[in-house]
Amino acid sequence: VMPQGGGSPVRLADQAFLPRSIRDDFPILATAQGGEPLVYLDNAATAQKPQAVLDALVDYYSTANSNVGRGYYRLSMASTDRYEEARETVRQALGAEHADEIVFTRGTTDAVNLIADGLGARLVGEGDQVVVTGMEHNSNLLPWRRLCERAGAELVVAPVDERGAVDAAAFAAVLGPRVRIAAVAHVSNVLGTVNPVREMIAEAHRRGVPVVVDGAQAVPHAPVDVRGLDADLYCFSGHKAYGPMGTGVLYGKRDLLAELPPYQVGGGTVKGVSHTEPVRYVPVPARFEAGTPNVAGAVGLAAALRYVRDLGWDAVRRHDEALVRHAVESLRQIDGVRVVGDPAAAPSGIVSFVVDGIHPYDVGGHLDRHGVAVRSGVHCASTFLDEMGLLGTVRMSFAVYNTADEIDVVADALRSVRPGSW
Ligand code: PLP
Repeated sequence: VMPQGGGSPVRLADQAFLPRSIRDDFPILATAQGGEPLVYLDNAATAQKPQAVLDALVDYYSTANSNVGRGYYRLSMASTDRYEEARETVRQALGAEHADEIVFTRGTTDAVNLIADGLGARLVGEGDQVVVTGMEHNSNLLPWRRLCERAGAELVVAPVDERGAVDAAAFAAVLGPRVRIAAVAHVSNVLGTVNPVREMIAEAHRRGVPVVVDGAQAVPHAPVDVRGLDADLYCFSGHKAYGPMGTGVLYGKRDLLAELPPYQVGGGTVKGVSHTEPVRYVPVPARFEAGTPNVAGAVGLAAALRYVRDLGWDAVRRHDEALVRHAVESLRQIDGVRVVGDPAAAPSGIVSFVVDGIHPYDVGGHLDRHGVAVRSGVHCASTFLDEMGLLGTVRMSFAVYNTADEIDVVADALRSVRPGSW
């Protein structure tokens, strides 16, 4: 938003970088909440799904549904083809070299658990250290904590600076000789700040430490290039990137994944089993996809990734920037409202704020009565909130279909919020 003479924010509704008609692609946006039009600003929790994704699900179930990788009949082969095409779409989206570096999971949580359980348990022993950052979501914290408890290792927390991001030099400073693996957020789900993961990974590699990146909040907002980052492992959730619920991805460098034992064992993971011989597991990625996978979900996720790619990442970025700046400008004009951090510095679609003397739950409940869906509380990152000395925030998180008008609805509603509003 370019500041105007009087300092009031320029309205963005008609100068959006993404056309307003995008909203028509998302059927749920036409619904109402208690008579008010839905203003959905909880996209960091899960994004809404475009018709292209819904159509992909219906099409899969209508024309190709059958189990994958097991049937020697045409329908099963068609289903397998769709599943593998989806894997190829994810490979391209992440800039991975090989399709077998892409493992489908249920989400980021599932992917991190897979890695902590397999690679973590293999690398980390008694007296070793595992590094995380001070801003981790519980899903990229608790699996590592549990690993450390089991192994008799120590969890070391890299500090977050006053900007709400990790400084690469401060990260390097905690990478001592006992560190075996590091797990870091790409983008904070609380503040939207972007960590310098490329530099952090380079620092870790200089010391022989592999890095797992939690990209749950990055993939919906920017084109991620796992090779450019040189990430060893990279996780994200499909449902936050406009794909179906219950979908996610673990990318892992081929050599790393090849060494790992399976996470869960069962159908689809073995070459053949006898009661007497040792079990021989199939290669990755099937080795990590025990049981019947969420094929429709993978197909839907591929449709989602293509949808965003076709909008154009440059337009998505400028749209995010414009909405974040409009939100920050608007909130700053309301007495008692304080934006946490500096979301405009590296916009990734998240603006967290607090209202003096009013609990975030009360603010969330008040906004809900105006049709607005935001997240309030600790955002599954209470350790980070504790560090900032906050009992919670209210979080607006944007997607490609959000508009400046919706932010104005929030700003107007905030003018009448009172303690105990909910
Ligand atoms: N990591 C981050 C940064 C997140 O924001 C989230 C979801 O909120 C997760 C991990 C967990 O993702 P999921 O619930 O899809 O497994």
